[in-house]
Amino acid sequence: MAFEYAPAPESRAVVDIAPSYGLFIDGEFVESSGGGLDKTVSPATEEVLAEYTRATAEDVDRAVRAARKAFEKWSALPGSERAKYLFRIARIIQERSRELAVLETLDNGKPIKETRDADLPLVAAHFVYYAGWADKLEHAGFGPDPKPLGVAGQVIPWNFPLLMLAWKIAPALAAGNTVVLKPAETTPLSALFFADICRQAGLPKGVVNILTGDGSTGAALVAHDGIDKVAFTGSTAVGKQIARTVAGTRKKLTLELGGKGANIVFDDAPIDQAVEGIVNGIFFNQGQVCCAGSRLLVQESVQDELLDALKRRMSTLRVGDPLDKNTDVGAINSAEQLARITELADSGTAEGAERWAPSCELPSQGYWFAPTLFTNVTQAHRIAREEIFGPVLSVLTFRTPAEAVAKANNSQYGLSAGIWTEKGSRMLAVADKLRAGVVWANTFNKFDPTSPFGGFKESGFGREGGRHGLEAYLDV
Ligand code: NAD
Repeated sequence: MAFEYAPAPESRAVVDIAPSYGLFIDGEFVESSGGGLDKTVSPATEEVLAEYTRATAEDVDRAVRAARKAFEKWSALPGSERAKYLFRIARIIQERSRELAVLETLDNGKPIKETRDADLPLVAAHFVYYAGWADKLEHAGFGPDPKPLGVAGQVIPWNFPLLMLAWKIAPALAAGNTVVLKPAETTPLSALFFADICRQAGLPKGVVNILTGDGSTGAALVAHDGIDKVAFTGSTAVGKQIARTVAGTRKKLTLELGGKGANIVFDDAPIDQAVEGIVNGIFFNQGQVCCAGSRLLVQESVQDELLDALKRRMSTLRVGDPLDKNTDVGAINSAEQLARITELADSGTAEGAERWAPSCELPSQGYWFAPTLFTNVTQAHRIAREEIFGPVLSVLTFRTPAEAVAKANNSQYGLSAGIWTEKGSRMLAVADKLRAGVVWANTFNKFDPTSPFGGFKESGFGREGGRHGLEAYLDV
């Protein structure tokens, strides 16, 4: 049973959302050439937060031209000057972090505890980290005088709106590129606030352009002739389309797509610690995380003990108002995503897996899904193969390390994995055999701007973060 907690809501008054937003092109908020308005809602209450503009192909052209013009001066600045702007942006983000955390929680539905303690500190850290590289590019290992690519077209998803923006914009600007970025249709607000931060920081006009809109805006952006680099994070299906669009052009491409991470627990693992890691791995951000540990592989001999402890822990998770500081699991980002999760979870039951969820009361308004566990899962089940992108964990078992590795690698994806064991030698031996871009040992979902992140197989290619993240924005 969860303790009864008195509500501890964060104040909405710290953020001032305008009723309607234009597009941010060449340093100004402007009207579209003819695109209509869409609404963004709070997934927790379905309340309309604001209207935003659907950018047309003509708007894309205007933004790309502005970015191209700005590129001449921006790329010619000494790295130490570009660094000053990036440090200034980082400082403003820190100063406005409470406001931005509340905004992100309202627009995305994730708990304030996460936006405040994970998203926002990481966003600022990314800008600080890449500001540090801006005047040291010749020491980054890419030759004595690495050059920027030009204009980057960047398309990001809704699960970490501001953090994905930081992953894209910070390295691009540090390397001397200018950008046109399109946020996801369900979470446009933090990118629009970031546009305001660029103005506040005195960033030269046209260096950052923000175009809101749907998939058609994204498609127009990646297809535009004036773009030199495309960076995309989102679904594998759209990633494949983009790869086809970009094929045969001069554009450099990085794709960060889906995942079906295996979290492997060996019989010598500290069970309580592993349970915390499993919970963090799949219920952080409602499981809407590309590197989520959505497949739990547990050694057969500790299965019962581990599942008992996991169910006890899941029963203490507080699901509800994302603005409440006690909330562990917030709202699902959209009605479409909720429908996708529901359909896949139902397929688990239909295919013979055993479903369990703690009893929890879900709010009547908004988009909600209780933390859910499936046992008796086989590798053939859809819930073991397809990315659910929700708070749903599929449990499989293994007997030997070789079987664990084989099952972990039996996936079209290869983004993340976790290993829980007391033995350092086993950790290294298993990590070496896993086809996953990031492998955590005795922890999960730890992020740091200095560490590269990216996938194998259908999880995409290219790396973001760290020194590796610069390569994607340099002509090397
Ligand atoms: P999506 O790929 O459809 O959308 C991601 C971004 O791409 C959005 O900004 C969207 O407007 C844009 N987009 C859509 N079609 C486009 C096109 N043809 N050309 C260019 N840009 C386009 O993802 P989604 O619908 O938001 O989510 C669907 C699934 O994607 C999820 O269930 C999940 O499996 C996966 N996903 C993965 C990540 C990740 O971090 N890897 C993030 C979000 C979603």
